[in-house]
Amino acid sequence: MENQEQPHKIDLTVKILIAMVMGLVVGWGIFEFLEASTVGDSSQNNLATWIDEYVVGGLFFVGGKLFIASLKMMVVPLVFVSLVCGVCATDSGKDLGRLGGKSFGLYFLTTAVAITLALFVAQMVDPGAGAELGETATYAPKERPTLVQVIVDIVPKNPVQAMANANMLQIMVFAILVGLGIHQAGESGARIASLFRDLNDVVLKMVTLVMHLAPAGVFCLVAGVFAEKGVDFIFSLASYFFTVVFVLLLHGVGTFTVLLTMLARVNPIIFYKKMWPAAVFGFSTASSAATMPVTLRLVEKALGVRNSVSSFTIPMGTTINMDGTAIMQGVATVFIANAYGIDLGLTEYLTVILTATMASVGTAAVPGAGMITLAMVLLQVGLPAEAIGLIIGVDRLLDMMRTAVNIIGDATVTCVVAQSENKLEMAVFNDLEERGQV
Ligand code: ASP
Repeated sequence: MENQEQPHKIDLTVKILIAMVMGLVVGWGIFEFLEASTVGDSSQNNLATWIDEYVVGGLFFVGGKLFIASLKMMVVPLVFVSLVCGVCATDSGKDLGRLGGKSFGLYFLTTAVAITLALFVAQMVDPGAGAELGETATYAPKERPTLVQVIVDIVPKNPVQAMANANMLQIMVFAILVGLGIHQAGESGARIASLFRDLNDVVLKMVTLVMHLAPAGVFCLVAGVFAEKGVDFIFSLASYFFTVVFVLLLHGVGTFTVLLTMLARVNPIIFYKKMWPAAVFGFSTASSAATMPVTLRLVEKALGVRNSVSSFTIPMGTTINMDGTAIMQGVATVFIANAYGIDLGLTEYLTVILTATMASVGTAAVPGAGMITLAMVLLQVGLPAEAIGLIIGVDRLLDMMRTAVNIIGDATVTCVVAQSENKLEMAVFNDLEERGQV
C-alpha cells in the first residue's frame, strides 16, 4: 500500500513545480500580448479585452483566491489542534519554557544575521546612489501596531475571537493553556488528549486533500501576477531588486546551510530537496500564514520533526520570524537613503538592525505586510515613510521571494531546535522517499 502511493506523492511535487513555471510563462506571455494589443488592430483588441476580463480577472483571480482561501481555512484548526497535541506530549511546563526560549533566541538571531548581511551587501553595492529620486515618491503609510501593543495583545481576552481573527500568538497562548490543563487533569485529561490526537489525524488528512488543489492554485496565482506585471518592471529598479535577490539567496542558502550543518548536524541538500514545495507555496501565495499547513506537514512528515516541537516552532516562526522581510527592509533603507542623498552612520545602521529585527515580530504573515513595517524602520532613522513609494512597484515579486525565505527560515530553526531536544527522527529525515505526501 505504502509503495503504491509513492509515485503519486512524487508526481504531485513535480506537478507543483511545473505549474509554477507554466504560470510564469503563460502569465508573462499574456502580459506581452496585452501590451502589444494596445497598438494592434481591433480584432486583436477584442481578444485582448476578453483575455484580460475572463482569463486574468476571471479564471486566474478566482482560482488563486479559492486556493489561498482553502489553505487559510486550515490554519486555525491546524495550529490549535496540533499545538494542543504537542503540549500534551511534552513532559513538563519546564520543557515548554526551554523550547520557547531556544526558538525565540534562534529566530531573533537569524533575523539579526539576515538584516546585518543585507546592510553589509547594500553598503558595498550602494543601490540607488546618485539616483536623486527623492521628490518622486508618494506613499501613505498604513497604521502599524506598536511593539508594546503586540506584547499586550499576546493574551487573548476571548479565545473564540482570537480564532475568528486568526491571531496566531493568541491562539498559541490559548492552545498551550488547554494542553497544560489536559496534561494535569488526570484521567479526564487523558480522554481529551486522545480526542485531540484523533482530531489531529483528521486535520492533517484535510490538509492533504487541499494540497491536491496546489498545481491549479499555484498556476493561477503565478500566472495572475505575471499577466498583470510582466517582468520588465524589474529593470526600472534593477540595483535595488537584484541586491535584495542576491542577499535573499545568500541567506536562504548560505546562512541556513551553516545552521543546518553545524547546529542541526543534518545534510542540507536533503533538507532543501524536501522543503522546496513549501518554498513554492510561499512564492505563489506570498503569505507564510497561508503556507503554514504545508510547512508544518513537511517538517513533520518529510523531515521527521516530532509534533511536540514543530507544533510550537512553526506557528511561532510564521508569526515572529521574517528573515526575508528583514533583508528587504535593510536593502530598502540603504536604497532610500541613497535616493534622498542622506548618509547613514554606524548608529543608524545599528538602529536599523534593532528595529527591523523587532519589526519582524510585528509583521503579519500576509502579502505586502513587510512594506507596512518598513515605514517604522525608515522613521527610526529619520527617513520619510513616503519614500516607500519608490520601491513599491517592484515589491510584489520580491514579496514572493522573501516569503519563501521566511518559510525556509522557520523550518531551519525548527530542525535545529528539534535536534537539540532529541526530537528529530534521522531515519525519516534521511529517507529520500519520504516527501510528506506533497
Ligand atoms: N509576505 C511576507 C510573509 O508572509 C511578509 C512580508 O514581508 O510582507 O512572510
